This record gives sequence, C-alpha cells and structure tokens, in this order.
Amino acid sequence: MQARDQMLKEIEHETRTTRDRIGRDRLSPGVMEAMGRVPREEFVPADMADRAYDNRPLPIGQGQTISQPFIVALMTDLLDPEPGDRVLEVGTGCGYQAAVLAEVVGEVWSIETIPELGNAAAQRLARLGYDNVHVRIGDGSQGWPEEAPFDGILVTAAAPEIPEALVEQLEPGGRMVIPVGGGGMGQDLRVVSKDAEGEVSSRSVLPVAFVPLTGS
Ligand code: SAM
Repeated sequence: MQARDQMLKEIEHETRTTRDRIGRDRLSPGVMEAMGRVPREEFVPADMADRAYDNRPLPIGQGQTISQPFIVALMTDLLDPEPGDRVLEVGTGCGYQAAVLAEVVGEVWSIETIPELGNAAAQRLARLGYDNVHVRIGDGSQGWPEEAPFDGILVTAAAPEIPEALVEQLEPGGRMVIPVGGGGMGQDLRVVSKDAEGEVSSRSVLPVAFVPLTGS
C-alpha cells in the first residue's frame, strides 16, 4: 500500500478510536480527499521525506514541528469548511495545514511569527500552486484585522487562553479551532463557536500537545 493511503487509513482508525470525544465516526470526504492530495513530503525536511506520511509530528527546524496528520485532518474537519470560506490560520510553520485548508475553502490567510519558516512556507506554497494562500510574518494572536471577519480561524499553537482579538475577528456563525493550555500535555483542543447573534460558546474536544503560542 502507498504510504499516503496508509496515512489515510491511520487517520480513519484514530477517528474511530476517539469518536466519543470528537463527536464523529468519520471525517468528511472532502477533508479526507484533501489529505490524500497534499504532498506532505514537500513540507518536511529532505532527510525526512521517507517518513513524511507517518501519522506523527516531525521537526521542521527553528524548534517547531509539522503537526500530526490526524490532528491536521481533525482540526480542518472541526471547522466544517465550505468551498467559499475565508479562513485565518495562526502558525503557518511549513505551510502543510494551510495547503490542506486551501484544498477545501476559498481563501486562506496564514500568519507565522518566525520569518525563516513563514518565508519558506510562502515560497513552497506558491511553487506548489496554492495561490489562494496568503502568508504574512507577525504575531498571529492579534489576528489579521485588515482581512477580518473570517468564517473560520484555526490556531496551530497552544494559547494560555482564547485570544480576544481572534474571537472579535470571527464572523457570526463562524468557528475557531484552538489548542488551549500550558506546554506539553494538559492542553485541550477547543471549538469556539459564534452564533448568528454574536454569542460565543466553546467545547473541549481532545487533549493535545502543541508548541506554545508566543506574542501578546
Ligand atoms: N501549521 C503547521 C503545520 O501545518 O504543520 C504547524 C505549525 S507549528 C505546530 C506552530 C507554529 O506556530 C510554529 O511555526 C510557531 O512558530 C508558530 N507560532 C507560535 N506563536 C505564534 C504567533 N503568536 N503568531 C504566529 N505564529 C506563531
């Protein structure tokens, strides 16, 4: 079996084993197809290309990681993405999650605080033809006010608490998926929903381990 097919099988398996927590038996076909289309080997360091489709995070330099494929797929699915959506990602890293989002929504704005990573990701995404992804260098905890509001916001680093600026930049009816908590374990993946009246609620989905969100 191709490594990419094996990765999809492992995502399906992990979805089933966590179904009581995540509230779904399977991820949407559109998200799974996107996971099958994005060439993960292009996003990992060259000496790790043979492990690109392992269902685990891998180092990408600067002390950062490319997230585990199951978590990328789950976070994308929890946004309930629609083809015309405008989505903000905080924590571009190598650009893999942005590419998966770009396959299922209309436009992606992604912010990375480490210039070396953000610039390399922007070049990589352009080379691979993801012209619906816009990358900028900065503190993503403040969002991207010029492009707000967003139908979805996906944060790929753990925040000590839900950043108010991001809640404000969420469209009524929109969702934010964000790990909340301290370093290592003890973090909680949360889905924050803003209803049509602007009321905000949040639910916990799964314990996770992300690098910390820096900035204010
Ligand atoms: N999204 C990436 C992927 O596709 O694999 C994984 C990103 S990695 C787990 C988290 C990233 O968030 C790191 O590259 C880190 O530099 C970045 N980061 C941390 N704090 C940030 C902030 N305040 N603003 C923007 N990026 C931030």
